[in-house]
Amino acid sequence: MSESQEKVLSILGVGLIGGSLAKAAKSAGLCQKVVGYGRCLKSLQRAVDLGVIDQIACDVKTAFESADFVVLATPVGAIEPLLKQAVGHFKSNVVITDVGSTKGSVVEAVRRALGEVPGNFVPGHPIAGTENSGVEYADAKLFDGRRVILTPLEHTDPDAVSRVRRMWEGVGSIVSEMAVNHHDEVLAATSHMPHMLAYLMVDTLSKMDARHEIFKYAASGFRDFTRIASSDPVMWRDICLANSDALLSALEEYSSEIMQLRNAIEAKDDEYLMALFSRSKAVRDQFC
Ligand code: NAP
Repeated sequence: MSESQEKVLSILGVGLIGGSLAKAAKSAGLCQKVVGYGRCLKSLQRAVDLGVIDQIACDVKTAFESADFVVLATPVGAIEPLLKQAVGHFKSNVVITDVGSTKGSVVEAVRRALGEVPGNFVPGHPIAGTENSGVEYADAKLFDGRRVILTPLEHTDPDAVSRVRRMWEGVGSIVSEMAVNHHDEVLAATSHMPHMLAYLMVDTLSKMDARHEIFKYAASGFRDFTRIASSDPVMWRDICLANSDALLSALEEYSSEIMQLRNAIEAKDDEYLMALFSRSKAVRDQFC
């Protein structure tokens, strides 16, 4: 076993993200064994059959007891109850991290569950994923070349941060560090709000009288804009509630821009429209 290899990697929540990390870590030789825990034995058995995990943990206690490296990869709302069940079952050298899309809520959940955020807990968020859920979609290449944000606290153990960084870099990710609040503000704007808009767009259209015609003639623009509305509702309910403050301010700013756009259309303000579309096109072209 090399010094940089973790002996037992435990994944709680062996879905798209947890399963992809398990696969990637195994194929990069970053751990000797992967243990998986979830609510449903059938999907855990599927994870074994697919070679994603090596062993099923029948409860949270077992998932923690032998683990050197734990990844919490459930929807963020499940983290607090899971950690409460783990109390008293941590190995002395264990490092715990998570992949949740919100970081302030996860830090608070850890504090409520354990009474403090221990130095060996390193909050994390891979900026990679798809609208698909479940271990069937686990992909060892999901994190290759993608960013991962770690949001360690002031007292987080630097060795724990190094081990988490090593895991993500080992699966091909580019790791950066950010303050918890800053992460939540940035992600509210770039990820959480777009998901809200996609869900709302599909729902709004589906309630219109002409909905059958609308969906019949919807083309690739509609498909591109709304792809993320196929994401898991439980995950997005949790994210929405967990990052509500940052999400609300992003939505407020967007609402005021929508009103300006609406007024410009009503006033047939071609200059406003041309300037808006040109600015947006330039920014997106550069981004892509
Ligand atoms: P997923 O494919 O649905 O996987 C979630 C897994 O958690 C499932 O295997 C589910 O299995 C398990 N689970 C759910 N509730 C649980 C509970 N109470 N106790 C134990 N296990 C539970 O979702 P995902 O896309 O991998 O997302 C997982 C996390 O990654 C979320 O926190 C999300 O915010 C974050 N994330 C997602 C993306 C993305 O694009 N999808 C990107 C970055 C970060 P059972 O139902 O069988 O228990």
